[in-house]
Amino acid sequence: MAVEIPENVVVSRLDALANWSRKNSLWPMPFATACCGIELMATGASRHDLARFGAEVFRFSPRQCDLMIVAGRVVMKMLPVLQRIWQQMLEPKWCISMGACASSGGVFDTYCVVQGIDRFIPVDMYIPGCPPRPEQLIQAIIDLQDKIEREGTISGKEFQQQSRQQRSRALLELPIVEVPSGATTQ
Ligand code: SF4
Repeated sequence: MAVEIPENVVVSRLDALANWSRKNSLWPMPFATACCGIELMATGASRHDLARFGAEVFRFSPRQCDLMIVAGRVVMKMLPVLQRIWQQMLEPKWCISMGACASSGGVFDTYCVVQGIDRFIPVDMYIPGCPPRPEQLIQAIIDLQDKIEREGTISGKEFQQQSRQQRSRALLELPIVEVPSGATTQ
């Protein structure tokens, strides 16, 4: 005998419910170091209205964030700070590399600039351009939301970072830089 479900009851899977909540409540951690940061700020302003996608709550505390947006070039001296903030963010978490500099070093082909942040932290979405427009960042967030929707929850697949990263080889080749004990990152 079929069980009749009342009209005001919705049935779903826990996976789907958790991922739906996650994708519609991304809290970005802005790591804006250069000109791309201005475009990042513009994306959060009223003209582009990031709130339409539930991702407008920028936080400056890594404990509260689940989306790292690296906008601008990262120099080697700054790398331990980036890594520390990334590690302080709780799982599940995602990363967008915004602009040519963050993704590849851009025009700064020099020893002191990181030639792609994916050598040191996992990246989920890359945005091309110098600088990318706010629309491109919004598109990356939409694509990331689709990706989050496809991830597992009960199985804990999202905690196995390598399974959701496309550039795991680079991560293996270049392990995380250790900050010497006693050293400051200021
Ligand atoms: S990609 Fe272009 S706009 Fe963005 S930080 Fe580099 S130089 Fe600046």
